[in-house]
Amino acid sequence: MSPASSTKLIDKFGRHIDYVRLSVTDRCDFRCVYCMTEEMTFLPRKDVLTLEEIYQVGRAFTELGVTRLRLTGGEPLVRNNVMALVRALGRLPALRELLITTNGSQLEQLAAPLRDAGVNRINISIDSLDAERFKRITRVGRLDKVLAGIEAARQCSFDRIRLNAVIMKGYNDDEVLALTDFAVERGLDIAFIEEMPLGQASDHLREETVCSNDWVKEQISLHYALQSTSESTAGPSRYFSIPGQRSKIGFISPMSHNFCADCNRVRMTVEGRLLLCLGNEHSSDLRQILRADNQQYLLKDELAQLEFSEENPVSVELKRAIVAAMDLKPERHHFYESDYAQPVRLMNMTGG
Ligand code: SAM
Ligand code: SF4
Repeated sequence: MSPASSTKLIDKFGRHIDYVRLSVTDRCDFRCVYCMTEEMTFLPRKDVLTLEEIYQVGRAFTELGVTRLRLTGGEPLVRNNVMALVRALGRLPALRELLITTNGSQLEQLAAPLRDAGVNRINISIDSLDAERFKRITRVGRLDKVLAGIEAARQCSFDRIRLNAVIMKGYNDDEVLALTDFAVERGLDIAFIEEMPLGQASDHLREETVCSNDWVKEQISLHYALQSTSESTAGPSRYFSIPGQRSKIGFISPMSHNFCADCNRVRMTVEGRLLLCLGNEHSSDLRQILRADNQQYLLKDELAQLEFSEENPVSVELKRAIVAAMDLKPERHHFYESDYAQPVRLMNMTGG
């Protein structure tokens, strides 16, 4: 298949890839216990893709039929000048939806600029409504900042706002209902995420804290009449509605349910590694293609006004590599098998 003529990315199991997550940084202003260790070493600057390189990858994907891009990280909104990237991606003609996942710490200032730049939907992570506990889980985060960020986002008429909560035994498993009430009272969606074994956590054993979404759903069902919907993001999430309420309740259950057969996504780390599956190491190095001409891309991010080149000699090679990488996408992850070999990369490196 010639990349130029291709409009669809199909893997060898017949799955159509139309959704890509782009990590824009491995850095973060929080240190959530399930995502990072207390002492983190981040990537050297030279290994990190510039905003222009990330843009080129995003553009190549949309030219190959991808219609949804999600910016994530690390914390995407702490990257210098990230709004220039958001604005440029927001103008891509073939893009149907630009999405972002954030911890909310910068949203008070950035919610309106994100909406203006073309972001359609936003996911905001919040694992506790108790300030002390919030700090324990994030190690450094301030709940009041995140709550202000959620309020700012609510004023910006995003198509949808979804809260994300990772429920962990002994940390916040008694807050399932409070978090649900918080979302329902504000007409927001909420998704409960099972903790995944990505990298070694430093202050708990994941097998002791992982909380099945079947249990979480039972807790919610004691108070709300959850009705199954056909809505799905073609990933491990399933959504339920509540009669008379706008909110949808989602369950992202990679540990207890396998939905790999429907998988429609790939992700790129901020080093330019195209990961074909969250739970496997199959990948393709896009950075070597982006930098094949030995151009000096470093420090471009410092420019106040980025010039995103419309014509680029590497774009054909990039698309060829992306098409070829589809054959590497494995059939499924093996998270819940006893001999599962845990990837060494933590979630902040993966682009969750
Ligand atoms: N910093 C942003 C945030 O926290 O929303 C975006 C990146 S974060 C890696 C994306 C999502 O991954 C968050 O909702 C977070 O709760 C989730 N996450 C991180 N580590 C996880 C893990 N080990 N298992 C399950 N979810 C995880
Ligand atoms: Fe940062 Fe998000 Fe990871 Fe928390 S989950 S440490 S906010 S990247």
